[in-house]
Amino acid sequence: MDVIRNGDLDGKRFRYRIAVIVIGIIVLIIFSLIESLSGKAQGVDENQGEDVTDMTDVSEDYDISGASDRNICYENRIAITFDDGPKGKITEELLDGLEERGVKATFFLIGESAEKYPEVVKRMYDAGHLIGSHTYSHVKLCDMSTENALEEIKKANSAIEGITGVRPKYIRPPYGMYSEQLLMSVNTTPVLWTVDPNDWNTTNAGAVVKKVVSKVKCGDIILLHDIYPSSVAAALEIIDQLKAKGYIFVTVDQILLD
Ligand SMILES: [Zn+2]
Repeated sequence: MDVIRNGDLDGKRFRYRIAVIVIGIIVLIIFSLIESLSGKAQGVDENQGEDVTDMTDVSEDYDISGASDRNICYENRIAITFDDGPKGKITEELLDGLEERGVKATFFLIGESAEKYPEVVKRMYDAGHLIGSHTYSHVKLCDMSTENALEEIKKANSAIEGITGVRPKYIRPPYGMYSEQLLMSVNTTPVLWTVDPNDWNTTNAGAVVKKVVSKVKCGDIILLHDIYPSSVAAALEIIDQLKAKGYIFVTVDQILLD
């Protein structure tokens, strides 16, 4: 204001306009600075809020030990697998339980058992479970000639394909023993396991449940056998408990692809 009073009329008007423009620019700069600072502060708060909620969900509500692997392990997926079947009513009881729970499992079938219970295998396939091979007569593939080993694999695949119309892509080699080269030659992928409660060695379903539920984490492949009533009871209880903890059951191909 002092500047305007001291000049001539044109000078006063000119300086007055300059002053208005300068003040206007300063006000705009101040406003934009305040806005950007408050925006940043808000953004930080929101992010922190989300992180905290996330950690609470995982560690307290679900208590999933593998939660730190979330980027690797998609959606808390786990797979439940059954070897050595099918075995008539025992496998059928399992299929009933899986159906009630809306769970898809993976079955590694012994070829000669598949031939014995074709209607169970058909039901398994129609229900959307994944079916793999466990050789034709449950042999140790490494303890025999390549020729015989190939025969075991091919015979099992043919038995299963004869019932479902689909040739198995996956094999669980009995005792986990196999040669990579042998399986590659028949275009078959081996699938092992990460959680083994030794269910075949006990009739105590509760002990099997406890072993699995205490060990399991995202991305695990659980090994059970659908030829023992106690294993079927354990499997259904394991599914109930792990579903309640937020796990999602998928077939092994969906774990291997992740
Ligand atoms: Zn087996």
